[in-house]
Amino acid sequence: MLDTPIEYLKGIGPQRAEMLQKEAGIFTFKDLLFYFPFRHVDRTKFFTVRSITEESVPVQLKGVIEGMQMQGERQAKRLIAKFRDNTGTIDLVWFKGHNWMASKLKIGVEYVVYGKPTEFKGRFNIAHPEIDAVSDWEKDKPTAFQPVYNSSEKLKAKGIDSAGFRKLLKQLFLSTKPEHIDENLSDELRSDFKLMPRFAALYQIHFPENQKSLEAAVFRIKFEELFFVQLRLLRLNKIRTHTVKGFVFSKVGSLFNDFFNKNLPFELTGAQKRVIKEIRADVGSGKQMHRLMQGDVGSGKTLVALMCMLLAIDNGYQTCMMAPTEILAQQHLATFLEFLKGLPVTTAILTGSSTAKERKLILAGIASGEIQILLGTHALIEDKVVFKNLGFVVIDEQHRFGVEQRARLARKNSQPPHILIMTATPIPRTLAMTLYGDLDTSVIDELPPGRKPIKTMHFSESQRLRLFGFMKEQIELGRQVYVVYPLIKESEKLDYQNLQQGHDDLLKEFQPPKYQISIVHGKLSNEQKEFEMQRFIKGETQIMVATTVIEVGVNIPNASVMVIESTERFGLSQLHQLRGRVGRGADQSYCILMSGYKLGQDSRTRIETMVRTTDGFEISEVDLKLRGPGDIEGTQQSGVLDLKLADLAKDGQILQMARNAAQQILDEDHELKLAKNAAYQGYLSYQNKNRPDWSKVG
Ligand code: ADP
Ligand code: MG
Repeated sequence: MLDTPIEYLKGIGPQRAEMLQKEAGIFTFKDLLFYFPFRHVDRTKFFTVRSITEESVPVQLKGVIEGMQMQGERQAKRLIAKFRDNTGTIDLVWFKGHNWMASKLKIGVEYVVYGKPTEFKGRFNIAHPEIDAVSDWEKDKPTAFQPVYNSSEKLKAKGIDSAGFRKLLKQLFLSTKPEHIDENLSDELRSDFKLMPRFAALYQIHFPENQKSLEAAVFRIKFEELFFVQLRLLRLNKIRTHTVKGFVFSKVGSLFNDFFNKNLPFELTGAQKRVIKEIRADVGSGKQMHRLMQGDVGSGKTLVALMCMLLAIDNGYQTCMMAPTEILAQQHLATFLEFLKGLPVTTAILTGSSTAKERKLILAGIASGEIQILLGTHALIEDKVVFKNLGFVVIDEQHRFGVEQRARLARKNSQPPHILIMTATPIPRTLAMTLYGDLDTSVIDELPPGRKPIKTMHFSESQRLRLFGFMKEQIELGRQVYVVYPLIKESEKLDYQNLQQGHDDLLKEFQPPKYQISIVHGKLSNEQKEFEMQRFIKGETQIMVATTVIEVGVNIPNASVMVIESTERFGLSQLHQLRGRVGRGADQSYCILMSGYKLGQDSRTRIETMVRTTDGFEISEVDLKLRGPGDIEGTQQSGVLDLKLADLAKDGQILQMARNAAQQILDEDHELKLAKNAAYQGYLSYQNKNRPDWSKVG
């Protein structure tokens, strides 16, 4: 019944059906049922004309039309109707459909008018109000919670405005009975969390009796949405732990101990110790580890990963670490070689630019087991790369993999290695639970001691001279400076012009031979880029002008000033990532955000957030609130975007409840075979049918 094509609903013919499909994605009765109102309005209360004091707050009036008049010519033509109630008069205005309105409205008849007043030259008027003769309005049974639906110009032209949707839904509920809608949550769960039955919730969302029933209905639907995303992810985790055997690292050997006692130049932070413990518990359990390690830039994730790799090697296994870029892989290699000095470990690197000869040697070394740590880029997952006994994989992730891609990666071997994923940027807890909901997570929430927090300042264009002065001061002290320009695909040409212009301006201010400036951007060849990077790394240049190509990973402790140009054009997580390039040495570091004068509300919030805090988790929460999950990488395959009511920026508590509930069910019945769990199994496969890319997961 609910799969019936929408054109068979009374009041909808083929034409309106087509429009509903195109404009609102409504193909079936069910789609319409799930087309939720975005708010409800009270249509039982009346205002009076005299009591209108505010713009934009919708009002309902009862009165008569005293007269009508067309004003203006052609495009500017509009219908003005004088509307009077007991307290005064107000203009009703139509800019579109004025002829039709003029023919429909009758002078002297009593109408109910509903709309938002706007103020114009000290008087209020209402443009495009809903207007019904009182007799019709009474037939429509006004309620205190009348649903308001989104519509579009094209739908409105076919008579499906908000009121039109309301009528369609009323019609739909006339023929929909509770038994048409399968309950997908068990009685037990519903009573535990006091969840409304599914049919009741759907009805109450559209046509609530009161505030309480509306809230209960919204809660039920949000819970359901989040519950099934979590059930799907946690089941994936369960299936993995039940069907996949993991290598057991039973001992702590000499490599780990020697490193810890002789080579480690500092104390581990409490957070690092805790995470190493968590990982050790995993790799000793006999199950395959799938763990996400989150932590701010510079919190010491790489070191944790290295120590776990040593543990694996002590137990006779090979290890590898995959980085998002070649520069980063090289940097990991340098770090590792430094840390591992004097220890009997064989380390190698494989990237896209390895020569054929190097490649051959490395492939042989991996196959024989001689190479114990292999670093590299995506080149590592190529089929030709065959290990003798790979036991531990670290993925240093820039672009977040979707659940499905990770599942594929894990299936690469018949006996899969333990997998540790490190994220470059912290993400909000709710998003982590959804994007990485199938993984166990560890958080490094503590920076190594002695770091001076980066000072962040916001300058506008008039302070540019002050900026130059500050840069000179810092360079005088022996520091180096990054100057970063945005690079957005759509305005690439203009961006390069800005970058070049900025470079030229800097050259005038910072003249050779006293000052040297490097420039790095995407249009340079890899060799040119590398050359310029090296000059900066060696300290031959004091200023590095760049696009965001330097965003990821580069570690130059002597660079302690980050200047960001056109800050308003960067996203928050990108700003945070860029700022993370400084603050890596012992010196006080600075981040200076340059911007124009006129800033939108969102830009202002982003800049204020950057100035206020350096906490990546806090920043990610603000980012989620500003952008919503849709714009955040990796959300496409996660099911986040299918959420209709639940909001990851606001519904953290419901998400946690739903996740706990799903976990409990799976702990008892991981295959969902018990009779009481039949509904879940059914609903998951129903979702798989409708989202084919999900059926491949797990
Ligand atoms: P991340 O990978 O999280 O960005 P890194 O592991 O690269 O962080 O660590 C950043 C810097 O801090 C490195 O120079 C590293 O050697 C150093 N470091 C890591 N752990 C500690 C610690 N416990 N105490 C002092 N310095 C540390
Ligand atoms: Mg790092």
